[in-house]
Amino acid sequence: MTDKKRIIGERSGAVHGPLLIVLTCVHGNEPAGYLAVEEVFRRIDAEYQLKAHFDFRGKIVGMVGNLAAANKAVRFQKTDLNRIWRPENVQRIRNTNKSTLEAEELELYELIEQFEVLSSNYQSEKIVILDLHTTTAQGGIFVIPSKDEKSGELAQHIHAPVLHGFLDDILGTALHHFSKQNYPNLDLTSLCFESGQHNSPDSINHAVSAIIQCFLAIGGFYPEDIETKHEKLLAGDAASLPKEARLIYSHRIQAGDDFAMRSDKIYRNFDPIEEGELLATDRNGNIYAKCKGLILMPLYQKQGNDGFFIIQDMNEAAPKLYPNIPSSRLNA
Ligand SMILES: [Zn+2]
Repeated sequence: MTDKKRIIGERSGAVHGPLLIVLTCVHGNEPAGYLAVEEVFRRIDAEYQLKAHFDFRGKIVGMVGNLAAANKAVRFQKTDLNRIWRPENVQRIRNTNKSTLEAEELELYELIEQFEVLSSNYQSEKIVILDLHTTTAQGGIFVIPSKDEKSGELAQHIHAPVLHGFLDDILGTALHHFSKQNYPNLDLTSLCFESGQHNSPDSINHAVSAIIQCFLAIGGFYPEDIETKHEKLLAGDAASLPKEARLIYSHRIQAGDDFAMRSDKIYRNFDPIEEGELLATDRNGNIYAKCKGLILMPLYQKQGNDGFFIIQDMNEAAPKLYPNIPSSRLNA
């Protein structure tokens, strides 16, 4: 049991500017994003100490998604918080007396409440929500943009594979809710970054770099203050991965399925698989790949509704993502 609070902390630059809300622990067993926010704040504080002229525009707020689950280090209590944001469900929860809401419904209610307080208190020109996650499988970082065009553009700045089609397949995510459509008066963009395996130290480093790259891209940090190592870390670790890929197949788990990935081979994110390859088993027997592609997010934990995904490189013939980094910009 830990003692996390809904707001991890916040840092504001001297000049008004963009508001970046870093959303962490929407799944309570994914602490990397939380630790990354703490690390980014430590670095900002250190920069102020070390450099007389350091400053930035706007504000970064770190927020915990599923607070009760995060304090118990479980993915969720009653239901997956990243699957209950369908408009009619959000409407129902918001019209319910808070004291009668259970577990994740209460988390959703409080997150919206908190978001509205943040956005109205800091009247920003633009708001970005960066939703940080990790996976049970090893290997690979990636960005899932929302359906908003601006989200796709911003995703390119993170220097990780950009994956399309997930928001058509997985419904009711926080990304679906925090959209321009639901908040027409705000310039709001959201995107999700998966930084690696749940408990890997690399996942924290990737998430730190993603936060920095994202805030740089929206005009928060000044480019001359940011080391190129963040760009290099992400681009380097993504060098062998597709630049853009689309979802072509997902295996959904039903209650009582007794799903398990095959035990004699451990899959990593982006491992190539052949059509007909044995991937997993459940109460109905063997589960074979329905198509050739790259496997993503094979499930190696008990909680979760998605067994695995298969994606396809959108430009297999094109060169992979290589770092294209200016070398004369090393300051901080
Ligand atoms: Zn997650």
